Amino acid sequence: MINSDQHMHTFLSPDGHMDITDAVQRAIDLSLSHIAITEHYEFYENRSDNRYFHRAYIDEHLRRVEAMRAEYGNRIEIAFGIEMGQPHIDWNESQDIVRSYPFDFIIASYHKVKGLDLSRYDYSCVGNLLDEYLDGLEEISQTCDFDVLGHLDLPRRYSSRQGFPVEAESRMDKVGCILENAIRRGRGIEVNTSTMREGKAPMPGDAILSLYKKLGGSIITVGSDAHRTEDIAVPYADAENLIRAAGFTEISVFMGRKATQVRL
Ligand SMILES: [Zn+2]
Repeated sequence: MINSDQHMHTFLSPDGHMDITDAVQRAIDLSLSHIAITEHYEFYENRSDNRYFHRAYIDEHLRRVEAMRAEYGNRIEIAFGIEMGQPHIDWNESQDIVRSYPFDFIIASYHKVKGLDLSRYDYSCVGNLLDEYLDGLEEISQTCDFDVLGHLDLPRRYSSRQGFPVEAESRMDKVGCILENAIRRGRGIEVNTSTMREGKAPMPGDAILSLYKKLGGSIITVGSDAHRTEDIAVPYADAENLIRAAGFTEISVFMGRKATQVRL
């Protein structure tokens, strides 16, 4: 049984809709033994576009996680996590942030291609967006410091909503390179269940998970990507079945940036 949720955003994140205390309470009510609070931290091609993400933001994130640990630490393990968006475009700064804070868990994601959030593209005419996305993710997988790659086939989340699905399965050669980089460097991937709440496959789906298994991958975290309490650890039974079907019998739980394998 999966009883960790290693991807969630609270009010501190610009798009979060839950109080951190409510998130922790919800996780305890669900009998989760471990959660990671993974607030967003985005990097911008044009630094002047950054009005939100500064050191004071991470300081506040750490302060809140420590306050939660003081109050609930005997009932649930709470990881100080972060989801870094496109860390490769400001590699020095992202490395410096990683070194400056006691993170337990780092998700690396690619949300903004050519400076525009993937949710804001018109997928009826995106040309080679998928290739640009995968090229950026390949660079991240090769050069950045992280624990898992977040929602590996993210363009599918937004493109399928518009009825023009853009699927990474059509570029399995590139996906394979990304997975091989992660495996070689001792990093993992997450299974992000947010798309399952829309009746779709998780990110990534079974074909990419199976390829990851075939290439020798073993580090998988599971995260709901919840921005609201009702989405925490939803829907986990289906995610567990899919992970098992791809041949995995364990998932990973991160603390202190070290993975512990937990039997499903
Ligand atoms: Zn994300």
